[in-house]
Amino acid sequence: HAAEQDGTRWRLHDPSLTGQKEWNLSLLGELDEALDKGDIWVAYQPKMDLYSKELIGAEALVRWTHAVRGPVSPVEFVEMAEKHGRIDRLTDFVLNDALKVARSVLADKPDFRISVNISPSLLVSRDILDMVRGALARHEVDPTCLILEITETLAIAQNETPSLLMAEFRAMGIGLSIDDYGTGLSTLEYLRKIPATELKIDRRFTQDICTDKADRAVMRSTIQLAHALGMKAVAEGIETIEVISLLSRMGCDVGQGYYIARPMESKAFLARMAADVAQIRHG
Ligand code: C2E
Ligand code: MG
Ligand code: MG
Ligand code: MG
Repeated sequence: HAAEQDGTRWRLHDPSLTGQKEWNLSLLGELDEALDKGDIWVAYQPKMDLYSKELIGAEALVRWTHAVRGPVSPVEFVEMAEKHGRIDRLTDFVLNDALKVARSVLADKPDFRISVNISPSLLVSRDILDMVRGALARHEVDPTCLILEITETLAIAQNETPSLLMAEFRAMGIGLSIDDYGTGLSTLEYLRKIPATELKIDRRFTQDICTDKADRAVMRSTIQLAHALGMKAVAEGIETIEVISLLSRMGCDVGQGYYIARPMESKAFLARMAADVAQIRHG
């Protein structure tokens, strides 16, 4: 039941039966209704401080449990929403859910940080600033408790607006994370230009560090690079105890992955955070 609840088991659809285009368009037509009905919801995956082993944050991950099709991958419907001008509404929904949850955790854990994924396609106008400011004010959450995770793309690297908007977010005190680092363009010029606070190394570099010498070298130098640029090093996709202990020894600051916790419903997540607080208070 837990595996179903975390929403990570996608039901595969057969494109030959539906046609990718029809599939996407019919999903698009259902997006608003799905948001209203609660079929679209937000899962939370804890992030761990690899020194103190404390759960210091979480990433908000959107989920769609479709009434007929079952769970649909966010990769699929986020891209569709981006293409058809619906990413604003989806992001606003996730942001508000995330800040509501964060507000509740912050009462017990003042150092807690909530991470929200921001599609690069939103970094084209000041609307995103208003959306984020509005949500922070509505839920009375300090901007320093929010981290925006942004995957680098050509559009971000080649235009002026995204880095200007990011600079404004930084000026507000909001954290910025370069998501899936190492998979996209990742030029060193980009790294210098973007005022990021954390480098989130993609899981394909994390997974085999115990067995693959080259992956281990890449991980070690990426952690050093992050630190040299004044950023935190975050590793995603930690699936074993061996990986987590090697990452700690390498000086990686923060970890996220199935070994620590799977993405879960807000209720289960809040219970897990409360248990973490109790454990720290009572040893
Ligand atoms: P991401 O931001 O890189 O998120 C991390 C992904 O890795 C999540 O997949 C998470 O469930 C998965 N993951 C976490 N730990 C492990 C692990 O130990 N092993 C493995 N194999 N996977 C792990 P998910 O939830 O399917 O999300 C996929 C992508 O969809 C995200 O990648 C992000 O790019 C996008 N996404 C999700 N929610 C949102 C959202 O609210 N807005 C936007 N714009 N994109 C979102
Ligand atoms: Mg992310
Ligand atoms: Mg990522
Ligand atoms: Mg990733």
